[in-house]
Amino acid sequence: MGLIVQKFGGTSVGSVERIGQVADKVAKFRAQGHDLIVVVSAMSGETNRLIDLAHAVQERPVPREMDTLISTGEQVTTALLSMALDVRGVKAKSYNGSQVRILTDDAHTKARIREIDDKRLRAGLDEGYVLVVAGFQGVDEHGNITTLGRGGSDTTAVALAAALKADECQIYTDVDGVYTTDPRVVDGARRLDRITFEEMLEMASMGSKVLQIRAVEFAGKYQVPLRVLHSFKEGPGTLITLEDATQMETPTIAGIAFNRDEAKLTILGVPDMPGIAHKILGPIGDANIEVDVIVQNTGEDKHTDFSFTVSRTDLPRAMDVLQSVAGQIGAREVRSDARIAKVSVVGVGMRSHAGVASQMFAALAEVGINIQMITTSEIKISVIIEEKFLELAVRSLHSSFGLDKEPNDEGAA
Ligand code: ADP
Ligand code: ASP
Ligand code: MG
Repeated sequence: MGLIVQKFGGTSVGSVERIGQVADKVAKFRAQGHDLIVVVSAMSGETNRLIDLAHAVQERPVPREMDTLISTGEQVTTALLSMALDVRGVKAKSYNGSQVRILTDDAHTKARIREIDDKRLRAGLDEGYVLVVAGFQGVDEHGNITTLGRGGSDTTAVALAAALKADECQIYTDVDGVYTTDPRVVDGARRLDRITFEEMLEMASMGSKVLQIRAVEFAGKYQVPLRVLHSFKEGPGTLITLEDATQMETPTIAGIAFNRDEAKLTILGVPDMPGIAHKILGPIGDANIEVDVIVQNTGEDKHTDFSFTVSRTDLPRAMDVLQSVAGQIGAREVRSDARIAKVSVVGVGMRSHAGVASQMFAALAEVGINIQMITTSEIKISVIIEEKFLELAVRSLHSSFGLDKEPNDEGAA
């Protein structure tokens, strides 16, 4: 018995029937004597529907109003789940972000949690209620509603677990754990019993959206025991752990992540001189555009080609900035390509194993995939390739690194 924070994602609360099933599950935990805080997402598709409505009214919606709008989905679910619990004889109360006082900064649509006032929650728990809290939302110091970025209900759950020093934070979703890669893309993907915070953070940062990046950061920082589980199937799920020195044999690669969210810009025939990278990327930064992978290549004629990637949504703006920079520095040409994808292999075992990069490049070469850009960190290697080869690349790497499940392993969810 202890305090458990449980989070149910959009598909898990996607209909009244499913909300009923979630209530059954929560009631079962309650009957075992646990104190429970249940964080819920909006019903699946709802946040997208609200975003579309906003864009139908205003091309670039006012961020404050956008947050007022998109935070409503979660509030609906808190009330419905609390009612469903009441029907089952479980005392429950719904709370939105400002009632709990999940205090955030004022960065609308991507706010960061600063502080959580745990007094009200503690009082509710002491009175014997299951507390049903709206995920994804908070309030800034002026009382404006804020949201935490897509997938942010994970972060609400982990932050509540950290603030209340919960015994475990359980993230219930539509897969039965964290897999070696997205099981919807690779049939042979395998559920991991455990993965380190560090690896999970790289996987999430490189595109595995099973957990929001901030949620993993929080869990690592406050050492919140975190588990990913299937909402409606029994099973151990995946535990996110500190690096386990007692484990004799850590596999070199934990998993393969990918994303299609980036686009590449290239500026050709740039005069090769000190300060040129700053002249190109300075104005991009000034326009508040984040740059990811960068490659510069100098030829023999004192000219250099310079490529970098940005988020796909920033491509039109980045292209405008780059075209004006090209004129100022006398570059020959500017090109862009939105049909790229980034594939990353991630694993703490890379620290002690040489040859991961060459194995990765060999696997891609074998299936005829050209690598456009490469970037590495201590525990990951990422490559940029043509988008149409993404699935082939992920599948090839998955088998090359021995991650495919054995024929008699349990199937993907
Ligand atoms: P929720 O609505 O419950 O928050 P999400 O859609 O945000 O669910 O996250 C679950 C999805 O994450 C899965 O359906 C799966 O397609 C995807 N996913 C991507 N990478 C992985 C991975 N490595 N392991 C498990 N699921 C993954
Ligand atoms: N409903 C929000 C979203 O779709 C938050 C979440 O589900 O975690 O992004
Ligand atoms: Mg999610």
